[in-house]
Amino acid sequence: MNEAATRVLVIDDEPAICELIEAVAESIGFHVTSASSGDEIEAALGGRFDLVVLDLSLGDLDGIELMGRLGSSHRGLPIILVSGADESLITSAGRIAEMHRLRVLATFAKPFSLDLLRTAMSEMRNIGPRVIDPTGPRLLIEEGQLLDPEFLRLVYQPKVSALTGDVIGVEALVRWQHPVKGNVPPSIYVALVEEMNRTADLLDAVMSMAAHDRHRHRALASMPDVSLNISVLDLSDDELPRRAQRILTATAPAEAWTFEVTETAPITDMTPAVSILTRLRLAGFHLAVDDFGTGTSNYERLLVAPFTELKIDRAIINRLDVAAAEPDPMAKSGIDVGHSLNMQVVAEGVETLEQFRLVRDLGCDAIQGYFVATPVPPTQIDEALDTWAENFGASGLAPEDS
Ligand code: C2E
Ligand code: MG
Ligand code: MG
Repeated sequence: MNEAATRVLVIDDEPAICELIEAVAESIGFHVTSASSGDEIEAALGGRFDLVVLDLSLGDLDGIELMGRLGSSHRGLPIILVSGADESLITSAGRIAEMHRLRVLATFAKPFSLDLLRTAMSEMRNIGPRVIDPTGPRLLIEEGQLLDPEFLRLVYQPKVSALTGDVIGVEALVRWQHPVKGNVPPSIYVALVEEMNRTADLLDAVMSMAAHDRHRHRALASMPDVSLNISVLDLSDDELPRRAQRILTATAPAEAWTFEVTETAPITDMTPAVSILTRLRLAGFHLAVDDFGTGTSNYERLLVAPFTELKIDRAIINRLDVAAAEPDPMAKSGIDVGHSLNMQVVAEGVETLEQFRLVRDLGCDAIQGYFVATPVPPTQIDEALDTWAENFGASGLAPEDS
């Protein structure tokens, strides 16, 4: 076997379907393992793979349950779902997979076109650096290197006004980069940090780097807002509001920082979380609900905690049908909920002009996504914003000159 080949695991209780999928995967140079029976599946799950093609209806076994297991052992794993069930069920299953932090490349109702399957599998080539397999030999990060400043960086992604195109802030995103081991995707990196119970240390490192960058780079010093992601685990850390004030407000006032809390992870005990969020808000920091619409949507949390911003997850933006006559109900209800609670609503993951126009027309206040700019190091922010200003001017999105 070619060591560099992508390893595909096909899980389907019908061996004939496995064979078909195998043929497609092999035709594009992938290495394939198939599993049909319960024992085969158990054995295969202990092996290594970069992509899973999963049938949702596995006879005695439960494909949905398997997604849960895959999500907790292989966060960020690319997956293709196939099923004999109807389209809407498969779409819901796709959402569940996203909730489990799997990366859904495509969903197919049987019978499906082998050409489309081939195209979906070929997506693996665009995924960039090989997704790291957390069950593999401890390739990953030794504990001593987990928070080593030598390997940690922040990149910044602009967020712009949907109406004027002006930059209103940037989001800081962590990058763990090793000269030999390469990049570990943040979804996997953060999961490791959580597993090792080091989220408070990561947050301190992120806050320090952001404060330092803001002090050092003019593009960030003049930025109205810089947002930082926090793990829900940090919301049981009583010391957080004090540390945030100490580390961050030396370079910019609390009002110029936002904390983003992901919506996908369940908060088991709301009371301490709400009190920490409230203390942060009282200190002047802004608070955003991140990834809204994918997780266990917890409206109660929105109502009881003083959030100022709601970020609609890119999975929802991605699914928008730009040609649809009716507004997408998920996107529309997120925007309405946000506005009724006086929050600024941001669309995440906007990749095209059509999506930009659509979410603006639906009422989003701000836009973030590759269409505007990808995350960049501090030294490249000015250039990214210049390019955006030009593109925005040429796109026909700018308000009429008057
Ligand atoms: P997030 O907070 O929702 O961040 C947005 C993610 O979407 C980023 O991925 C960004 O690169 C990606 N993105 C932005 N625009 C587009 C687009 O147009 N299309 C697509 N396909 N993707 C887009 P990234 O940097 O890989 O981060 C993934 C997640 O890791 C973040 O999701 C956040 O939950 C977490 N994360 C990142 N940095 C930190 C951190 O410093 N601390 C903690 N606790 N979590 C972090
Ligand atoms: Mg975020
Ligand atoms: Mg997000």
